[in-house]
Amino acid sequence: MAKPRIAIFDLACCEGCQLQIVNMEDELVQLLTLVNPVEWREAMSDQSSNYDIAIIEGSVTRSADEMRVRDIRIRAKYVIALGACAMQGGVNKLKNNFSLQEVKKEVYGYAADQAQFDTFRTKALAEVIKVDFEVPGCPIEASELAHVIKCLLTGRRPKLAEHPVCVECKMKGNCCRYEYDEVCLGPITRAGCDARCPSNGFWCFGCRGILPDANMDAAREAAALHGKSFAVLQSKLELFGSE
Ligand code: SF4
Ligand code: SF4
Ligand code: SF4
Repeated sequence: MAKPRIAIFDLACCEGCQLQIVNMEDELVQLLTLVNPVEWREAMSDQSSNYDIAIIEGSVTRSADEMRVRDIRIRAKYVIALGACAMQGGVNKLKNNFSLQEVKKEVYGYAADQAQFDTFRTKALAEVIKVDFEVPGCPIEASELAHVIKCLLTGRRPKLAEHPVCVECKMKGNCCRYEYDEVCLGPITRAGCDARCPSNGFWCFGCRGILPDANMDAAREAAALHGKSFAVLQSKLELFGSE
């Protein structure tokens, strides 16, 4: 039986999530026995319009992107949103906190008024097309992508962690960043990264996205116990939680 054909595409992003795939090494070799990559600009020069699984990294920020992802959706049986940029708009949605004119001026200076730039408010992939699976993180956990692909190939539904980063953080025995007089988004952020940031001396900045049923009241209370206002917590949410 022919192996499913897989294509990887990128939109507005830093391509760091694709780099995580390139760095998968042993796991990548195993995955290549299961799927046949037919397009992946970061790793190969071949191109194809015939694929079963499309992995899309990055946010939709231009009408050209919108047309491109609609075309990919028509061709692919499954679409996977790769990383925070694709899944929730990621850092690219910071742009949405300003007017488009301000953003253009910041980037293009005097030329902003003189030329037509194909740009609009940042959208997550699911705001434009149907997405079948999502792999969170900035960057992703490569093992999580491998898990999603294997589930897809075996007809299972991959599940994302439904508990907050704090659970993994506590299991690692970390001292809480609040004890260092910092504000951490761990109580409301989706786990699955093994509490990478608090385990390395940094607060969680919420890159895996806010849990759908996040207990904001408890997060507010925890922050208040350490003399931190809810406004500070909310300002931290802007980086990965802008609309
Ligand atoms: S999610 Fe983060 S690492 Fe991945 S492409 Fe976007 S900015 Fe880069
Ligand atoms: S608030 Fe942050 S540092 Fe504290 S336990 Fe939760 S994840 Fe760890
Ligand atoms: S600790 Fe938070 S910011 Fe760091 S990788 Fe995990 S979810 Fe992302």
